[in-house]
Amino acid sequence: MRQYRIAVLPGDGIGPEIVKEARKVLGVVAERAGVRFVMEEGLVGGAAYDRCGTPLPDEVMELALASDAVLLGAVGGPQWEPLDYSLRPERGLLGLRSGLGLFANLRPVVVFEDLIDASPLKPDVVRGIDLMIVRELMGDAYFGKPRGVRVENGQRIGINTMVYTEAEIRRIAKVAFELARGRRRKLLSVDKANVLEVTELWRDVVTETGRNYPDVELRHMYVDNCAMQLIRNPGQFDVIVTTNMFGDILSDEASMLTGSLGMLPSASQGEKTAMYEPSHGSAPDIAGKNIANPLATILSAAMMLRHSLGMPEEAAIVEKAVRTVLKEGFRTEDIRQAGAVVVGTAEMGDLVAERVGALPA
Ligand code: NAD
Repeated sequence: MRQYRIAVLPGDGIGPEIVKEARKVLGVVAERAGVRFVMEEGLVGGAAYDRCGTPLPDEVMELALASDAVLLGAVGGPQWEPLDYSLRPERGLLGLRSGLGLFANLRPVVVFEDLIDASPLKPDVVRGIDLMIVRELMGDAYFGKPRGVRVENGQRIGINTMVYTEAEIRRIAKVAFELARGRRRKLLSVDKANVLEVTELWRDVVTETGRNYPDVELRHMYVDNCAMQLIRNPGQFDVIVTTNMFGDILSDEASMLTGSLGMLPSASQGEKTAMYEPSHGSAPDIAGKNIANPLATILSAAMMLRHSLGMPEEAAIVEKAVRTVLKEGFRTEDIRQAGAVVVGTAEMGDLVAERVGALPA
């Protein structure tokens, strides 16, 4: 029997509740597919600080490195905000990202027909949206040097440096081309090559990389235009690849096309183990009440099946199960609609797991 090792890191707030539901669904997937998932849990974030005095214990990092994939809930909460920066829950997340060398962040944005009214945009604009933003995660002004604020000629001056090496651009471009190949074969690279030399290089290297992918249609767009097009005509996009800072902003903009935070999965890939987590935070305001929406985490588990475990059919079945449950009229509190049946976190997990078990291959 094929066997996969999954590091499960529930984290804080609603993390444990939503991860439990993703585990439930993965359990049914394993039965259906005749594989074994060895799921080992570890503490991260505030929960790890409370038990071990650090937001990322060494053994958890080792577990992540030794696994085929990491499934994370969320970290953070008000009780840990007074802590020193180095001990805050978010440091656990950043530690995982750098320890695993995660340089590519994948954020799919899918508008489900049955939730179309949740979008702040008109149904005609968002109907059928199915795009993927690939954000570079380890370069750009967020890490470039020199950086800081200093005093020069009696006044303060702030500096950050936008920097990319050719190798950094090529590796993220490859991830994006490969993804486009498995989808509708359209890639948009977003830059500001008209004013920023660093992104002129970005455009050149993405174009060069594209010569190895003649089957993928490559376009380029300036970031300001892309920000506008995402609202005007988001249906034109398949895969979008961009820099760390532009990706930070565009992925949040794109996520709002759906209008429902509880539905958005994400993946981060690097040279080692990849990590899968919902795009939302730990929602401490609703933790422990059985009202959190587990679907973003369940959809993150589907991404894990597709991108790390080589199980694309099973991923598609999980996604179809989510769609089916929504079509049947079940909703969690955050996506409540008139006439729908509102269910709790655990019930939503049960419903998806049941459909995964029942859907034909
Ligand atoms: P948040 O995403 O946790 O919550 C924003 C709002 O959305 C809240 O009202 C919350 O109840 C709601 N919400 C979020 N996820 C939901 C779900 N699955 N179902 C139903 N409702 C949901 O953002 P925030 O309130 O700004 O941050 C809370 C904590 O989470 C902070 O400590 C923050 O640092 C942390 N955070 C962690 C991550 C992460 O772990 N990746 C990301 C963002 C924020």
